[in-house]
Amino acid sequence: MINIAIDGPAGAGKSTIARRTAANLGYIYVDTGALYRAVGVSVLRRGLDTTDAKAVAQVLNEIKIELKFVDGVQHVFLNGEDVSTDIRLPEASMAASNVSAIPAVRAFLFDLQKSIAANSNCIMDGRDIGTVVLPDAQLKVFLTASAEVRAKRRYDELVVKGTPVEFNELLEEIKLRDHNDSTRAIAPLKKADDAVLVDSSDMTIDEVCETLEKLVREIK
Ligand code: C5P
Repeated sequence: MINIAIDGPAGAGKSTIARRTAANLGYIYVDTGALYRAVGVSVLRRGLDTTDAKAVAQVLNEIKIELKFVDGVQHVFLNGEDVSTDIRLPEASMAASNVSAIPAVRAFLFDLQKSIAANSNCIMDGRDIGTVVLPDAQLKVFLTASAEVRAKRRYDELVVKGTPVEFNELLEEIKLRDHNDSTRAIAPLKKADDAVLVDSSDMTIDEVCETLEKLVREIK
């Protein structure tokens, strides 16, 4: 199987680029952030503190998370319920970031990610795919952009959706998540030594996709 790992901070454009490139290649696109978000949502729904490792570990005993691909589009299920919309609520982002720092959560989601990659040609995006989940991926990309550019992209997306929020609030949240994700003790966000660094700050989506497709052609 061909496995491509794309890691990078929130809002770097990983999902847009990975989804489009996967469709062009006929691979599945696996968004691993959705798994952490689903755990975060299940903790929030129980009214528990997403930073409380003990409480979160207890919740893991009560939940089952599955990914299903419907017409190539990933859906995430929490105890049989499709929570693909709920995991995109604003509060799910920090909840995911908080629970993702808990070792039991990472262990809980590890096998699911491995088994998908073992059975499909895929582009998998996240924070630790090239470093931890798929260290033998045939191609690893670390996609980044400045915090300001990433916040502006999120801001524009939310304006289009008709749910704008304060730009500065978004920027602060992005910076806080970057800090959380890159300083945690377990599987921190970092570029794998053998990953190709792509800074998309001054690139269009088309340019980033072309760069990625060129890298994919080189591995074949
Ligand atoms: O990618 P997304 O923004 O949906 O991820 C939500 C959160 O899940 C991230 O801020 C990060 O803390 C966590 N995550 C992770 N490892 C991954 C994917 C996401 O820790 N592979």
